[in-house]
Amino acid sequence: MNIVLLGPPGSGKGTQGQLLAERFDLAQLSTGDLFRQILQDPDHPLYDELQIVKQGKLVSDEVVNAVVEDAIKKLGNAKGIIFDGFPRTVAQAQALDKMLNSMNKRVDVVLDFNVAQDVLLQRLLGRRVCPDCKRVFHIKQRYVECPDCKVQLVTREDDNEEVIMKRFKEYNEKTAGVKEYYLDSDCAYINLTVDDADTTPEEVHQQIISELAKRGLAQ
Ligand SMILES: [Zn+2]
Repeated sequence: MNIVLLGPPGSGKGTQGQLLAERFDLAQLSTGDLFRQILQDPDHPLYDELQIVKQGKLVSDEVVNAVVEDAIKKLGNAKGIIFDGFPRTVAQAQALDKMLNSMNKRVDVVLDFNVAQDVLLQRLLGRRVCPDCKRVFHIKQRYVECPDCKVQLVTREDDNEEVIMKRFKEYNEKTAGVKEYYLDSDCAYINLTVDDADTTPEEVHQQIISELAKRGLAQ
């Protein structure tokens, strides 16, 4: 089962991706994580091109597709992949279909996370990340270090209000077409609405499982 997660940064899709990956034994492909890895490697061929990520700008389709294609090849044996942060444009969605079709696979499920903007901002500004395993925490959880890696949590460089608002704007402008693209396709399109900041990740996860079950995709 290949799943595409659609939703602005802070919508909780990363966390839900982790929960789904564990439940269904799927691989996760986060373009954000892939970009951050490349940005730590000055010898990587795309190091210079990806510098714009730090300003909250989106990377060109060509570059994103190349990064994703490379990552999919490395995950060739996975039972399925969860795509987080990709595709963000119709051209990327078309490229993904091509990549998957060439392996006799397809996008089976799209999860569209609709979260109120104030809830999003509140979540992002309080977000802390483990620099080793990339697990995401919130200051409300009161963790100082990652319970698994015992490493101090950090704030991501691009989690500040100015960059966040820029990301919202670009996200909404660019992804409207992606939503239409998938609504017109034959994948299972699941809309999730989260407008309460107190909704827990477990509650959202259960909501997703029940939506999948309705379509015969989970038990
Ligand atoms: Zn960790």
